[in-house]
Amino acid sequence: KARDPHEKEFHQAVEDVVSAVMPWYLEQDDLRRAGVLERLAEPDRTISFRVAWEDDAGAVQMNRGWRVQFSHVLGPYKGGLRFAASVDQSVLKFLGFEQILKNSLTGLPMGGAKGGADFDPKGRSDREIARFCQSFMAELHRHIGPDIDVPAGDMGVGAEEISVLFGAYLRLTNTWHGALTGKGCTFGGSPVRLEATGYGCVYFCELMLGARDDTLEGKRVAISGSGNVALHAAEKAVERGAKVVTLSDSGGVVVREDGLRQDDFADIRRIKAGRGRLSELDGAGLDYRDGAKPWGVECDVAMPCATQNEVEEEDAATLLDGGVKAICEGANMPLTAEAAGRLREAGVLHGPGKASNAGGVAVSGFEQSQNAQRQSWSRDEVDRRLKEIMKGIHGRCLDMHDGDGAGEVDYVRCANLAGFRRVAQAMRSFGVF
Ligand code: NDP
Repeated sequence: KARDPHEKEFHQAVEDVVSAVMPWYLEQDDLRRAGVLERLAEPDRTISFRVAWEDDAGAVQMNRGWRVQFSHVLGPYKGGLRFAASVDQSVLKFLGFEQILKNSLTGLPMGGAKGGADFDPKGRSDREIARFCQSFMAELHRHIGPDIDVPAGDMGVGAEEISVLFGAYLRLTNTWHGALTGKGCTFGGSPVRLEATGYGCVYFCELMLGARDDTLEGKRVAISGSGNVALHAAEKAVERGAKVVTLSDSGGVVVREDGLRQDDFADIRRIKAGRGRLSELDGAGLDYRDGAKPWGVECDVAMPCATQNEVEEEDAATLLDGGVKAICEGANMPLTAEAAGRLREAGVLHGPGKASNAGGVAVSGFEQSQNAQRQSWSRDEVDRRLKEIMKGIHGRCLDMHDGDGAGEVDYVRCANLAGFRRVAQAMRSFGVF
């Protein structure tokens, strides 16, 4: 904290991990002597660079780009790129730090990284976004590659942006290899990559409920966000028999008390593809609540799938009043520490993002394997492997559980411990650097 006092998101992420692993870590003399925890909390390197680009009016605009290469002890650096006005070094360090443990939990050979820019795609034309991506890659290409660092998408970076970034990478390096994931399926992308984070989140939720002899069937699920993760989580939850009662964006929430339907999802997808707002659905048969969050709508399960710290302490209280039984995170660190504490005290089942949203990066790992093999797997094959990955992560959490029954599992503690142990042991084996 003394070193970077202003990086509050990063400190929050580190504190979450430290409080979970400390009792175990204190008993590991060899790891403590090797300073594993202190070293893990410092990125291998942070690359920061200027991104200059020309807007449609011919004016030169300037943004700042970053790639935080946090840890590559388990494999090449891996983690998404985020384009949003709220991006800064603290946000990318928290995301990169989370990514190390998330990737470790998947059991796949991937290190942890994150990157992006303080560029806000909202209100920008497709041509402006393409020019921005090309300028961003003009610097980033020096630092990535299939055996070095393999970025993917995140907020503000979807399939279209990844395609332009990949095209720019090809031009700059004249080398076709899997240096980015989330590519289109006709040029090296994997089936199910787009859907994987949302689908995986629902699979993980079912595994947590299953450990309590419960299912998603008939449950009311409140979901925040209306981007990639939220929409795919919503569709999968409905397919599994749940009633999805909300979706949202930064302007407000749409509610359908008897459950959103496939045609609602199609409308929302169309609006979002045109970079529109959910408010456009006001009066179209859906209940749109301007400025509201989803957490005021009664639900059994909450799936925050928008952004960090979107569930604050008062939202946690509202969720408890509304009868919430489980929370399963599609977004990264969507709960403030206070909200998480409140829900923990009330005994709410809590799947942390580093476990429940790891399906996306796992399928990115599959995309890397397919690119390396010059092969492509079928949709069914990838979905089957995704389910196996989520089951593996759930199993690794249960392995860390020292309570009396599956019903008492503290997934936050267990996921942190399982992810951390694998990285820590590898770091000790490598010696000090
Ligand atoms: P998208 O950009 O596709 O969607 C983000 C959604 O969140 C939009 O609906 C956006 O609304 C909403 N949102 C953003 N900020 C706020 C806010 N302050 N309040 C309310 N809503 C907000 O991103 P993704 O779906 O890809 O990512 C969502 C979350 O999932 C992020 O935390 C990301 O890190 C995490 N994640 C994503 C993965 C992936 O594979 N894409 C993998 C693992 C985690 P608006 O349009 O108004 O901004």
